[in-house]
Amino acid sequence: MKNNLTEILRRIAEAKAKYRSPDEEIRLMAVTKTVDPDKINFAVDEGVSLLGENRVQEYLSKKDSYDKTAEVHFIGHLQTNKVKYIIDSVSMIQSVDSLKLASEIDRHAQKVGRIMDILIEVNIGDEETKSGIDSGALKELALEIAKLGNIRLRGLMAIPPIGADESVFEEMHKLYEELKGMGDELPNAQIDTLSMGMSGDYELAIKHGSTLVRIGSGLFGARNYNV
Ligand SMILES: *Cc1c(COP(=O)(O)O)cnc(C)c1O
Repeated sequence: MKNNLTEILRRIAEAKAKYRSPDEEIRLMAVTKTVDPDKINFAVDEGVSLLGENRVQEYLSKKDSYDKTAEVHFIGHLQTNKVKYIIDSVSMIQSVDSLKLASEIDRHAQKVGRIMDILIEVNIGDEETKSGIDSGALKELALEIAKLGNIRLRGLMAIPPIGADESVFEEMHKLYEELKGMGDELPNAQIDTLSMGMSGDYELAIKHGSTLVRIGSGLFGARNYNV
């Protein structure tokens, strides 16, 4: 795994040097689904500072074993009735795709006295099976979400279809820049995060404006869903 990490960091640095300006930060997230806490802590020891969680149940069963220095973002499909279980232990929810979910996050954030950072998940490939909102509905949702007092909208998350054409990444970058350009129209927002890129496409995502790449199998190896 250490070799995988070294290689990933090298390729991120290389893509950044090629396509981006030196002062931009690109964060690496380790996606932990099905991964043993020991392995996760090893990655944190080696310098990974951000973990991505997909499933509430799995996260709750593992989180007490995690190295406390790591920051955690929720990245999976989130049911409104599960918000309360993660509201005080994650620092961002990247998978917000409805006003209903955003309102529930806002309500629980208020209860525990915090502001929750969120991203809106866009279904950029228009895939029926994927979560995320249609790109055409993005602006309207962002305007509604930005009114909520206990949420801070930080940007967008996307899972482009496997083998997606480069134009899909370009489209996502364009949506992100448009959101940034909305400025004062989004009162409680601070748009600085485009979460895009996984093990198979992170260099392409970095080429097209990603600020945060989410790597699972490329770091930890193939997932074993039987454990
Ligand atoms: C599993 C997952 C990833 C990581 O996928 P890999 O291809 O294993 O790198 C990234 N983002 C989300 C939302 C995921 O569910």
